[in-house]
Amino acid sequence: MQVLGAAAIEALLPINDCVDVVAQAMQTISKGQVLAPLRTMMPLAPPNGMGVMPGAMLSHGRFGIKVVALYPGNGARGLPSHAGVVLLFDGETGGPVAVLEGDTLTAMRTAAASAVATRALARPDSAVLAVLGAGCQALWHVRALSTVMPLQRLQLWSRNRASAQRLVDTLALPASVLVTIADSAQAAVAGADVVCTVTASREPILHGDWLVPGQHVNLVGASVASAREADDVVVQRSRFFVDARDSAAVQAGEWIGALRAGAVGAGHLRGEIGEVLLGRIPGRIGAGDITVYKSLGHVAQDLATADALVRRARASGRYPELPW
Ligand code: NDP
Repeated sequence: MQVLGAAAIEALLPINDCVDVVAQAMQTISKGQVLAPLRTMMPLAPPNGMGVMPGAMLSHGRFGIKVVALYPGNGARGLPSHAGVVLLFDGETGGPVAVLEGDTLTAMRTAAASAVATRALARPDSAVLAVLGAGCQALWHVRALSTVMPLQRLQLWSRNRASAQRLVDTLALPASVLVTIADSAQAAVAGADVVCTVTASREPILHGDWLVPGQHVNLVGASVASAREADDVVVQRSRFFVDARDSAAVQAGEWIGALRAGAVGAGHLRGEIGEVLLGRIPGRIGAGDITVYKSLGHVAQDLATADALVRRARASGRYPELPW
């Protein structure tokens, strides 16, 4: 059995390759070839929790589960807010194939999914990226989105300016990319072609009346029905896409909130990003559309990424397997 830690995961799968792996996974979801019960969240001592995401991609010959501990206060300890493992099994024999560190894998596959959506929905001439939030997802979103848009300008906002500055230092972007830290989320969004919300906020930090025609938005941070990073107007003004319809119906706070408020009707949800990739539904129709991708995360992204990592680890011969 393969055991892959964070360093191995980063070394084995460059983020641009992860984008292609996740693009395939999104299509597999929309073809109905993934068995994925809804994620369950078990509360621990508040505000902590444990998320459990089982799934099967039998077309890939794989099934498995991700178990993630969510400790939002961990930043104060200098520890990540998410920690977990992905367990990958062989669909034919049922044998365990690998245990993978879940934090890096999650950050990579989530950012890759936003890159997939951006490639499919953003204007092709997009070059200015706004990122709201400055944690682990923010770091990987800049890395992943840089592979699908020729990044000329990065406009960051975080509630804590020091976090944004740390992110800039870690990113070490080439001098050709102009990086600014905005004083407000609204200032960061102004002039951006693509906007990513990657905060742990439970209340809107993005407002629809800030958006201008032509922008694309990836809503990533909120993953339960009771939390939302964007207000109803963002949903209302956009062509609105999701990663998976079934989970969006019960867990996408922005969508559920806008629907309950009567800001939109059920038909406003255009569909899944995989359906756009498969050519079953249109994505962006005109240069003036505002497009939104609501990301909740899907176990198919974890399993497909884990499978790609295991194949590469085996092919490299550098990661000995443990007897099991
Ligand atoms: P981190 O803890 O690394 O970063 C969280 C960021 O959110 C920090 O910049 C933090 O600011 C900011 N933040 C926290 N609370 C608020 C608030 N009330 N208002 C504004 N900003 C706030 O987390 P990650 O980057 O790993 O994850 C970010 C979010 O994405 C989380 O909510 C997570 O659950 C979600 N997520 C979504 C996935 C998906 O598939 N859609 C997958 C994985 C995670 P500061 O620096 O000041 O603390």
